[in-house]
Amino acid sequence: MSSDGTIRAVIATTTELVELARQKHDLSFTATAALGRALTAGALLAPILAREGQVALKFQGNGPLGRVVVDASPRGTVRGYVENPQVELPLNSVGNFDVGGAIGQKGYLHVTIDHGFGEPQQSTVELASGEVGEDINRYLVTSDQTGSIVVIGTHLNKNGVEAAGGLIVQLLPDHTEDTICKIENNITTFGTFTFLMRRGMDLQTILSRILHGFDVTPLTEVKPVSFYCKCSRERFLEALKILPHEDLMDMAEEDGKAEGRCQFCNELYLVEKEGLLDIARSK
Ligand SMILES: [Zn+2]
Repeated sequence: MSSDGTIRAVIATTTELVELARQKHDLSFTATAALGRALTAGALLAPILAREGQVALKFQGNGPLGRVVVDASPRGTVRGYVENPQVELPLNSVGNFDVGGAIGQKGYLHVTIDHGFGEPQQSTVELASGEVGEDINRYLVTSDQTGSIVVIGTHLNKNGVEAAGGLIVQLLPDHTEDTICKIENNITTFGTFTFLMRRGMDLQTILSRILHGFDVTPLTEVKPVSFYCKCSRERFLEALKILPHEDLMDMAEEDGKAEGRCQFCNELYLVEKEGLLDIARSK
């Protein structure tokens, strides 16, 4: 929070988190860039929108990537997937991964905020460009009624994710046109988020560059963020136990096993014939 009360910012580096998502889902470069930005957006939005509980983002565009789904908690855990992880597109006209083309310029961003109590709060905005950062910005302006500057970047090389991260600066009621100009000038002068990360700068230094000219006081301590999925073998077994006895017997006799793959983290759970029969008998 700036001491003049004009801005509040959340900043995160997500390189390891995005690299783990890339490996788990065997993502193409384009899909890594798209999901990487969406995962970073989740990590940044969760502490802004939900003190407890979680925030879920679903980008449903008309591009070849299909759905891009992320959920994130303010505790720093984030997970997500894309519907078609192998889609690869040529670089766009400015030499970047074509995230907008992959997600699609037409479609919707659905945001669900679960505060951990009561009914979850849902809102939908039309995609601004499918580039993620601009879509999140549109959501914050239309649904959350706050002007903001959203900077999200994912830089890849042939070995994987080299740098990923971003920040959301929320403009508070006392801000002026000069506040926005100052931040935009800083980004032009000092470079983009991933450019600063690739030069080895830590979060504090990047924040001081992008918010140069503002006197900033940290409101919360630095927290780790990680790719974490709450699926488990136990949950898979619980799901099987709900099935009718005869379905379990059919599965055991006809397939000889039951398989389930978690959409969010791509983990495969397998129960062999004997295990299925045990569950069927215990019912
Ligand atoms: Zn999972």
